Amino acid sequence: MTYEAKNERYETMSYKRCGHSGLKLPRLSLGLWHNFGDVDELENSRRLLRYAFDAGITHFDLANNYGPPPGSAERNFGRILAEDFGSYRDELIISSKAGYHMWSGPYGEWGSRKYMLASLDQSLERMGLDYVDIFYSHRYDPETPLEETMGALDTAVRSGKALYAGISNYYDPEVFSRAVGILQELGTPCLIHQPRYSMLDRKVEGQLLATQEKLGVGSIVFSPLEQGILTGRYLDGIPEDSRAGRSDSPFLQPDKVEETMLIVRELNQIARDRGQSLAQMAISWVLRQSAVTSAVIGASRVEQIEDLLPTVDAAEFSDEELQAIDQACGL
Ligand code: NDP
Repeated sequence: MTYEAKNERYETMSYKRCGHSGLKLPRLSLGLWHNFGDVDELENSRRLLRYAFDAGITHFDLANNYGPPPGSAERNFGRILAEDFGSYRDELIISSKAGYHMWSGPYGEWGSRKYMLASLDQSLERMGLDYVDIFYSHRYDPETPLEETMGALDTAVRSGKALYAGISNYYDPEVFSRAVGILQELGTPCLIHQPRYSMLDRKVEGQLLATQEKLGVGSIVFSPLEQGILTGRYLDGIPEDSRAGRSDSPFLQPDKVEETMLIVRELNQIARDRGQSLAQMAISWVLRQSAVTSAVIGASRVEQIEDLLPTVDAAEFSDEELQAIDQACGL
């Protein structure tokens, strides 16, 4: 059936300005890393996208290698976009990235100009788009001059194939600052950084979030549910068929899993005392940081997105709650 977006789609979602830019992002964004590949049911992917957009989630986050197989998430997204979202392009923020392995040979990954710009062309073709809204360097390449990788982002924007430039997984504050400085000099400011951040993964808290804020760069944090560990799904153990069951997460290694589950149960109790599910608390917790523009979530079912929508304006955390969370996490 032809899709028509709900009229009230902008009534409940909140939007936050991305750093010092003119762009606002929804507090919740939808990531297409999982559940959009050729191994997944296309109609479920379509349901997820329609549900998200109807709820005011205007930002869909992709990368060249999402699938499996790599590239298939962009292709499937492109198909749904053409079939359902054709008239809504100007209401959507679509991002893609290049950095991880995509094709054979020396030009199929990392940060060379050769790879980055070829990959962007391939992504546009798979999605059937003239431009993406945000194009990211997906990871820092220590063997390529930062000037070259940032120069490729600048070219992407100047050629009209991307509206904004972003970087992802640049965890060293010094490297991050240099990258932002180079883009600034080129006249294409860095819109956004995409790091990993959750109650279980705190590496951005040291200096990085503060540096991002100081430099006026927005921040969209990935895996805020730690790929599903910070939800109620695994409180009674990890089902064989779950994503966490198949994960190579350091938190689920045989010698770690028991400790992780103890933490998760304690966090779950704190969430219940706050009147939230664990998944809801995990999202509210990352969104409470002033440096965080948006949390990019994954979902395998529409109900999971529905469950997380109220987190956008959940009650603030008291100091006691924040301390209890840190303590539960062993900090
Ligand atoms: P999350 O930490 O949000 O984990 C998503 C998983 O959690 C879902 O697949 C689902 O698991 C489970 N889940 C979601 N909502 C609920 C709920 N309400 N109740 C119970 N379980 C729930 O994020 P991801 O790791 O999937 O990453 C999100 C996005 O971030 C990616 O799609 C991608 O766009 C981006 N990303 C970026 C990276 C980068 O390097 N820049 C790296 C990784 C991700 P299940 O599928 O088992 O049902």
